[in-house]
Amino acid sequence: MKLPERAAVIDASAIAHNVRTISEYVRPAKVLAAVKADGYGHGLMTAAKAALAGGADWLGVAHIDEALQLRAQGIESPLLAWLHTRGSDFAAGIEAHIDLGVSGWDLEPIAEAANLLHEPARVHLKIDTGLGRNGSTMSDWPGLVERAAMFQNQGLISVEGIFTHMAVADEPDRKETDEQLEAFREALAVAERHGIVPDLRHAANTPAALSRPDAHFDMVRVGVGVYGHSPFADRTGPSLGLKPAMELRTTVANVKTVPAGQGISYGLTHRVEAPTRLGLIPLGYADGIPRIAVGAPVLIRGRRYHSAGRVAMDQFVVDLGTDTDVEVGDQVIVFGGNSGIEAADWGTAAGTINYEIITRIGTRVPRVVINAEPEQ
Ligand SMILES: *Cc1c(COP(=O)(O)O)cnc(C)c1O
Repeated sequence: MKLPERAAVIDASAIAHNVRTISEYVRPAKVLAAVKADGYGHGLMTAAKAALAGGADWLGVAHIDEALQLRAQGIESPLLAWLHTRGSDFAAGIEAHIDLGVSGWDLEPIAEAANLLHEPARVHLKIDTGLGRNGSTMSDWPGLVERAAMFQNQGLISVEGIFTHMAVADEPDRKETDEQLEAFREALAVAERHGIVPDLRHAANTPAALSRPDAHFDMVRVGVGVYGHSPFADRTGPSLGLKPAMELRTTVANVKTVPAGQGISYGLTHRVEAPTRLGLIPLGYADGIPRIAVGAPVLIRGRRYHSAGRVAMDQFVVDLGTDTDVEVGDQVIVFGGNSGIEAADWGTAAGTINYEIITRIGTRVPRVVINAEPEQ
C-alpha cells in the first residue's frame, strides 16, 4: 500500500484485539470503550467500529457532541457522555438515546429537557470519591440521590448507573484506591436506601481494570488500553498482552554532513561535537510532536536514532552519526508498529505520558486505517 508521506497508520484489528483481551480480564463485567478525543487520536469512527467489533458493550465520550457524531454516523450501541456545561444540548442527547453522566447541577436541566420531550433521560449518577474533579461530593450525595429518586418517580429520568473515577490506579499499591472504592461502596449504599439500585456500577479505568479486580463492579471504562498502551510507568502495552494500534511514520526529508560545532534548530540548544550526518524528519509540533522532546527515538533502516535540538513546527532533526547508510526517502517510524518504540518513549522524552502523545497527533497527519472489519 502506498502511504501518504506522513501517516498515522491505525490498525483497527489491534483495537478489537485489545478490547477482547480486556474483556477476558474483567469478565463478567461489561466493557465501555472510551472513544473521546477522536478515539484518543485514532479517529472517532475507526475506534468506535473497531471497539464494537472487539465486543465492547458500551462506548464512552466526554461530550454529548461527540456522542451525537457517533449516532449521526450510524452507531447504535449504548453511549455514555459525562462532561457537560450550561451550553450542552441535553435534549439532543436524550432524543439520541445517549446516557448522561450527572454530577449535580446538571440533574435539573436534564429533567427539564426530558419533561419537554416527554421522554425519560437515562442517567448515571457520578460520585467524587477522591479525584476532586467532576462528580458529587460525599456530602452533597444524599441530596443528589434524593432529587434523582424524585425525578425517577415522576418518570423524568431513569437511573441506569452510578459511577466514579479513579485517581491513582496507575500506581497499584497506593492506598487511596482502597479509600476510593470504600467511599464508592458507601455511596452505593446511600443510593440503595433511597431506592436507587442501578444495573451498572462502574469505577475502573484501564489501570484499575488491569490491576484491581475489586474495582470491576458491573462495567469497566477503558481508554488507553483499548489503543494498546500501558497506563503503568513500568510496563509496556505488549507486556500486558495489548497491541499498540497507531504507528506514526514518514520518510527522511533530507540528509547532510555537517562539521563539528554545528548548531541544531531554533535556539541552537544543541551543537554536535564532531562532524556528523543529520537526518531531517518532516513532523513537528504542529503535528503533535512535543517541542520539548529531547533525545526521543525513531527507527530508520532497523536502527534507532535520536532527536537532537528543538522540535520545530514542521520538522525535527536526528543525529545519524558518521557510520550510517540512511538516505533521503528512507522510511522513518516515530513510534508503534514493529519498531519497538512506544508512544511512552516519546512521553518520557517530553516530560509527559503516552496518553498525551497519542491524543495530540494533529489533523495534518492523515490517518490510514488498516485491517478494519468489512462493512456489513
Ligand atoms: C477518559 C476516561 C476513562 C478512560 O480512562 P483510561 O485511563 O484511558 O482507561 C474512563 N472514565 C472516565 C470518566 C474518563 O474520563
